[in-house]
Amino acid sequence: MKKLILGVALGALLTACAPDVSQTDTAAPAAATPARSAVEELHFRTLVLDTHLDTPAYFHDPKYTFSKRGDFDVDGTHVDLPRMNEGGLDGGFWVIFTAQGPLDEASYLAARNLAVLRQMSIREMAAKYSDHVELAFSTADAERIAAAGKKIVFQSMENAYPLGTDISMLDTFYVGGLRMIAPVHFRNSQFADSATDVSEAYGGLSPLGEELVRSANRLGLILDGSHASDNTVRDMMAISTTPLILSHSGPKAIYDHPRNVPDDLLIAIAEDGGVIQINAYGAYLEALPASAERLDTIAALQAEYGSDTSSMDDATRDAYRAAYEALNKQFPAPRSTFEKFMEHLLYTLELVGPDHVGVGADWDGGGGVDGMKDIVDLPKVTAALVEAGYSEEDIAKIWSGNLLRLMSEVEAARSSDLTSPQVLN
Ligand SMILES: [Zn+2]
Repeated sequence: MKKLILGVALGALLTACAPDVSQTDTAAPAAATPARSAVEELHFRTLVLDTHLDTPAYFHDPKYTFSKRGDFDVDGTHVDLPRMNEGGLDGGFWVIFTAQGPLDEASYLAARNLAVLRQMSIREMAAKYSDHVELAFSTADAERIAAAGKKIVFQSMENAYPLGTDISMLDTFYVGGLRMIAPVHFRNSQFADSATDVSEAYGGLSPLGEELVRSANRLGLILDGSHASDNTVRDMMAISTTPLILSHSGPKAIYDHPRNVPDDLLIAIAEDGGVIQINAYGAYLEALPASAERLDTIAALQAEYGSDTSSMDDATRDAYRAAYEALNKQFPAPRSTFEKFMEHLLYTLELVGPDHVGVGADWDGGGGVDGMKDIVDLPKVTAALVEAGYSEEDIAKIWSGNLLRLMSEVEAARSSDLTSPQVLN
């Protein structure tokens, strides 16, 4: 049992140094288990949460089983229950992601249906594996679930597109357990400008986006500025009564990419009480030019198939994906490194301090680097933080304390009395 006590309401996070026997559930017999180093002990007694787990994208995939150990090199996955135990990941925000489509009513309805199913899949997972995981709706839930030695399942929405133009849908997803919302993804939505859309639709939030921020405040949802344009983030900060999170972002000073955030904005978010969770998505960590062979093969594939999988029939899509997998084996995409990820994390820590930084690595959503290919390697992050001089108290804040402190502020500021049932009767 993880004897972890969160003093969230007091802004303090205390850890009790008890062995985490949940780790032994799937471990080899004691005689074959190497003794943990002091740093590993620190890691495993810390509550470790990640704010961007895209794993729900696999929950309806018959080839994926949450309770079975996968292997990134074989199946490309990062997260499952055995690896959460091996890497000391105690849970986090599991994402309801919807790709951006056209801004029309028919597309909103289709997206809404997909998002409802994705939220159901997270709740189904929590119900199916209830001996090991539990839905969390509050900081108090997180404390209780961690103390019971279970994994914490918060829900977030990446891209508010499936809400359509009916903001009351946010109430519906809240009742289902949603506790974090990001208005936008790769392209401008009905709510906001995206960091990666070349056209600027609103210069920040749209009027509907402003309404979304107010509704999130009312309900008690954390507002997430990842993927939003800098002006959108500024608008969100100006309107929101609670601080923002960036659930998976990075500092532009280390790599100048639209998905990364300039120092002045990172500092403003932190000064407002917000938290910046650092991404491990290689293409946002550094420039990774592909080899000429890879680029040529991609061009040939696109000439043959196009690149829009949504317009392909099933057989063509399967053939396209098989060809792409073969390409990835023959001419692998260049990958960033653990050292580069740590450069982003340590830079941001230095810039805004350990009270405003955490980790949202984009696991199962393109995250992962050489040296930290999946969550099994998370203890290396703790070791690198110790090496950089951060105390156990700092490390506890970075791994979850800052997130839960922000969440407790959001809870305290809410004015809605809607609740979320654990079990539907
Ligand atoms: Zn993302």
